[in-house]
Amino acid sequence: MKKIFNALSMANKQIAELDTQLLKRRLRITESPCDTETIVDQRKLNAFCSNDYLGLANHPELIQALAEGANLYGVGSGASHLISGHNIAHDLLEKKLASFQSKHIPNAGALFFSTGYLANLTAITGLIKLAKPGEASIYSANLNHASIIDGVRLASIQSKTSVTLFDHQQLESLVEALKKDTKPLKLIITDGVFSMDGDITPIKALTEIAEQYDALLLVDDAHGFGVLGELGHGILEQFDITSERIVYVGTLGKAAGVSGAFVCAQAPFIDWLIQKGRPYIYSTATPPAIAHALLQSLAIIESEEGKSRRRQLNQLITHWQNEMYFSDWKKVDSCTPIQPVILGSNANALAAAKLLDDMGYWIPAIRPPTVPAGSARLRITFSANHSIKDLQELIQALQKIEQQVQVGKLS
Ligand SMILES: *Cc1c(COP(=O)(O)O)cnc(C)c1O
Repeated sequence: MKKIFNALSMANKQIAELDTQLLKRRLRITESPCDTETIVDQRKLNAFCSNDYLGLANHPELIQALAEGANLYGVGSGASHLISGHNIAHDLLEKKLASFQSKHIPNAGALFFSTGYLANLTAITGLIKLAKPGEASIYSANLNHASIIDGVRLASIQSKTSVTLFDHQQLESLVEALKKDTKPLKLIITDGVFSMDGDITPIKALTEIAEQYDALLLVDDAHGFGVLGELGHGILEQFDITSERIVYVGTLGKAAGVSGAFVCAQAPFIDWLIQKGRPYIYSTATPPAIAHALLQSLAIIESEEGKSRRRQLNQLITHWQNEMYFSDWKKVDSCTPIQPVILGSNANALAAAKLLDDMGYWIPAIRPPTVPAGSARLRITFSANHSIKDLQELIQALQKIEQQVQVGKLS
């Protein structure tokens, strides 16, 4: 007789349950480069959903740089960085990334990672190991990205670190907790731009708090790098912040248009992560060709072209804030290219995403656990490759769809 296969029946049951709660996720397949027009499941859609804010993911100069990198260095790195995978392209990239933050972080060094998820996991667990087990505390903003949450969980298991969550819009409780904290190592962690709301963290106040209470401040600027600041160097440039205590995490698969991430901090912290950062140490190095392409991306970000792409992005944001009105749905007060529309229920968010799809738009519904329960939303993002006309048409479509979903609710 065939043995009952428990795991498989559990999987079927759990997935069916997600489906009834309207929480089952599905992959959609694109057949074209990431751009404002994308072929999805064999249909051409207007995409307002990528994090390719500067429109660099399909930029001819970056395509050429990636090909050039492959010609120079082949396609694979062959090993982890500490074995034999650390290439001159990685080294040049790290130096350039450090130079982007050198006005804001004295004696800055940088370490390149294959993903932002790994960068956060490595930075958080690694920095906490500077203290003996049980002798560090973490303060993490409660809307931080999942990769931060997982890094904090891992640090708390590995190093018995105490963890306190805080509301980034209400810093009093953070200050109260820090006042009582006698641990030798304290780490405050925040997203720079909150990824599902688009608002910017109070970086100035947090830096002052870190200085006053002798804490490190890790800022994950995944959505600010390339976008914020005159030169696109990110949140520290935009708010003119300088501090020895900042550990800056940036990602390179969003505005930079390629792939990867980095941690930038004072050189001894970077050196420490090379010694003790397990996810870094035990991963194969990213192909050097990617690092080579990223050098070109950084050059564009700082150039006149980069500035003009950021100007276009800001024009789109202003237009949206001035022209988009809903009767029931809620816009969020955001000055970044992330402009969510809060619908509340999963059913409404899915219905709206479906109607948008019928009209030729790709804007997915974002549901729990990515966002808090009851705050399902459309996460609309702009790219510098969108025109004002693209946006005007989107605004009209959204206004029409809001009415349709409202009517749907009554029947
Ligand atoms: C996307 C994102 C990450 C993860 O970066 P990847 O390079 O995609 O792994 C980390 N933090 C935040 C805030 C993000 O939005």
